[in-house]
Amino acid sequence: MTSIQLETPVTGKYTQPTGLFINNEFVKGKKGQEFEVINPATEKVTCKVHEATEEDVDIAVAAARKAFQPGSEWRTMATADRGKLLLKLAELFEKNAEMLAAVEALDNGKSISMARGDIGACIGCIRYYAGWADKIHGKVITTAEGSFNYTKREPIGVCGQIIPWNFPLLMWAWKIAPALACGCTLVLKTAEQTPLSGLVAASLVKEAGFPPGVVNVLSGFGKTAGAAIASHMDIDKVAFTGSTLVGRTIMKAAASSNLKKVTLELGGKSPNIVFEDADIDEAISWVNFGIFYNHGQCCCAGSRIYVQESIYDKFVARFKERAEQNIVGDPFHEKTFQGPQVSQLQYDRIMDYIKIGKEEGATVETGGERHGDVGYFIKPTIFSNVKNDMKIMQEEIFGPVCAIAKFKDADDVLEIANDTTYGLAAAVHTKNLNTAIKVSDNLKAGTVWVNSYNLLHWSLPFGGFRQSGIGRELGKAALENYTQIKTVAINMKGAMF
Ligand code: ADP
Repeated sequence: MTSIQLETPVTGKYTQPTGLFINNEFVKGKKGQEFEVINPATEKVTCKVHEATEEDVDIAVAAARKAFQPGSEWRTMATADRGKLLLKLAELFEKNAEMLAAVEALDNGKSISMARGDIGACIGCIRYYAGWADKIHGKVITTAEGSFNYTKREPIGVCGQIIPWNFPLLMWAWKIAPALACGCTLVLKTAEQTPLSGLVAASLVKEAGFPPGVVNVLSGFGKTAGAAIASHMDIDKVAFTGSTLVGRTIMKAAASSNLKKVTLELGGKSPNIVFEDADIDEAISWVNFGIFYNHGQCCCAGSRIYVQESIYDKFVARFKERAEQNIVGDPFHEKTFQGPQVSQLQYDRIMDYIKIGKEEGATVETGGERHGDVGYFIKPTIFSNVKNDMKIMQEEIFGPVCAIAKFKDADDVLEIANDTTYGLAAAVHTKNLNTAIKVSDNLKAGTVWVNSYNLLHWSLPFGGFRQSGIGRELGKAALENYTQIKTVAINMKGAMF
């Protein structure tokens, strides 16, 4: 069996594929292994899915290689037709949006209203890259009379893509859409905690009409299937989103196998800076959203909050009040803002950090404990009275936990905000244009939001400075990840030597 009937409160019954998606078919893994998918809100088993091992990765890569051969349907397809297939996929996402959102809520535990937002962002992303498919050009470069040179942007080939569990379908779309617009084929591995939505989406890939082998989606574990992708000799490029720790492993595996090209979108410990002249109500709303959105499970979460000293006490009191109003609970309730953490492991890691914070001497302003009796729920937690060298100020917690500290002026806050090994994102709240520009210019981060937070858009490049990553996703920048430049130099002057 490679599909089952599941049920969600929003959609009623729906068909959930459980097989590995290879060559446009759902198949069992070669070893016949399956693994359990846990509902984080109830801690009960939702279903089992088939597990990809090394052999299945080989089969999927062979399918992707075949689909990439010169003369194949995919390689000979007009670029505009590639765009049309992506548009069709976006249309199918739109048609099935409510079902996709429900699967995401069931699998990941995110609230249904936030899941709907994710699906909207997937649709936008896929449409955006559909538009790029026939606009990827090289250049003519003149060097001297009698020579004619041009560059082409060729698809890089077979891509391995490894995605995390915090935005299962959005990361699927961020990876798949630019790779397909560029004419690559791919083998994507979903995270073992959240394999369901990627498989439903794979069935839409088939329905959209992509040729077999172009998109392959595997459920499986990092140390087996993920490692097999990273070290595969016939994968031309690996794109990874996940922890910095695993990012290093991927890079090492790529280096010691076939030197496949690598892009990494990794962790963060992003500063969110509030100046005394900011609109306090707006700043509190963005700071709250910056850390507690998606239960703090965002690589760009604004987990270090710096507030100018003159407004610090007032800000802490009001932020605490705001965080306590966040509705934590059943992902399928329309008003829920925060659902459970994704897994027991993540729950335990976060609770450990909360314990460490308390032991380090920080003050718990609110939260600091589990919510309810069942499910991996943690109360929104704010630590004050923190020092910059404390673990909770330096390490990525990946949960609804933040630390708040005061600063004197722009120079002071820049020094402490940049005192981290990460550099994914940051934000500054102020009404003063000069402050906004000076602070943004000097923050070591790939994205800086001014008077907002977490406002990502498919047309804006996203990625990390320092140990937060290599390369950029989204926007035109992502096309560079999936194409390589070929230079053709034509000599028209006959023999020269
Ligand atoms: P987290 O710690 O938040 O679960 P990870 O970085 O471990 O995040 O996981 C992100 C993705 O990387 C998942 O798809 C996971 O299966 C995969 N992964 C984990 N370990 C490895 C590894 N050694 N090689 C390749 N992929 C891995």
